[in-house]
Amino acid sequence: MVSLGDLPLRDDLRGLSPYGAPQKPVRIALNVNENAHPMPEEVALDVAASLAAAVHSLNRYPDREFAELRQSLASYLANGLTPENVWAANGSNEVLQQVLQAFGGPGRSVMGFEPTYSMYQILARGTGTAWIGGTRDDGFQLSAHTAVRQVQEHSPDIVFLCSPNNPTGTPLTLETIAAVYDATPGIVVVDEAYAEFAASGTPSAVTLLPGRARLLVSRSMSKAFAFAGVRLGYVAADSTVVDALRLVRLPYHLSALTQAAALAALRHSDQLLETVADIIVQRDRLLEVLPTLGYPVLPSAANFVLFGGVASPSRLFSQLLERDILVRDVGIPGHLRVTAGTEKETTEFLAALTEITAG
Ligand SMILES: *Cc1c(COP(=O)(O)O)cnc(C)c1O
Repeated sequence: MVSLGDLPLRDDLRGLSPYGAPQKPVRIALNVNENAHPMPEEVALDVAASLAAAVHSLNRYPDREFAELRQSLASYLANGLTPENVWAANGSNEVLQQVLQAFGGPGRSVMGFEPTYSMYQILARGTGTAWIGGTRDDGFQLSAHTAVRQVQEHSPDIVFLCSPNNPTGTPLTLETIAAVYDATPGIVVVDEAYAEFAASGTPSAVTLLPGRARLLVSRSMSKAFAFAGVRLGYVAADSTVVDALRLVRLPYHLSALTQAAALAALRHSDQLLETVADIIVQRDRLLEVLPTLGYPVLPSAANFVLFGGVASPSRLFSQLLERDILVRDVGIPGHLRVTAGTEKETTEFLAALTEITAG
């Protein structure tokens, strides 16, 4: 048997582990922040019809510029954005990888504020970009002062701002984002994978784009759109940034099937986003009930809640798994993260937790 260590692997990849959120066949999966609501039948039929139509042209390469999809994404984002301001890839993870390929790489660095999205570090490693793990204020908040101080100290080439932050749920103000932008000559990426779960009236960082050519706002169809299986993420930025990403993308990276499915889903965005209101209700319910069970929560503007007061995260994780409920141990001592599922799933999760806590 050959082991990984026997292969002529890149030195900087030796000893590393791949991204590994457990994928277990459970009844109630509340571990990777998916939208637990199935796709409405009417939307599913339209997606299926669009895929069927696209199948006839699969002998040809897809539109490398996915013009129609960029038009549709620009309309969805509104705020005066045009297709030239929009770029997409197979999940926002791939968008972020392209950003690192274009603006990071060997000899360059990217900074994020920990604890934050675990993929940032993995993408940094894969592209040979040095990772700088910054810190947060109390309660995982990130003030303009704290962020700017560290950005000025480390002068990273790229800053990742996760808004709201995964895995803590912490919202980020536009003031912090604008201050970080002003404090660096580098690229600033605001990861808004959970933007649709914010309180209504919360402005998106997209509103900061005019006049800020180094600012990028990434979004995803994996969470609010209940479309994680399709793999579609996108970014809004100055058109020059899009030109930079074209230099590193693989030709025809978005398959004709992906483009067709995403276009169909965007035609039904109102209907797909109807579940968001319900998920917010379930999230707020978790925020309200968990503390009454002895688990203090962090404020969340996303579709998940990080709760503390857990004597042994790995033990509680296993106890929930025994009841066919999967949550996420994100490695923060004393804490676990749970996704807001359907009303029924949330009820079952809270009931199981109540039982375990009492026992
Ligand atoms: C889920 C998530 C994404 C989305 O990734 P996709 O590749 O679009 O599925 C991006 N950023 C954060 C912080 C996330 O939690």
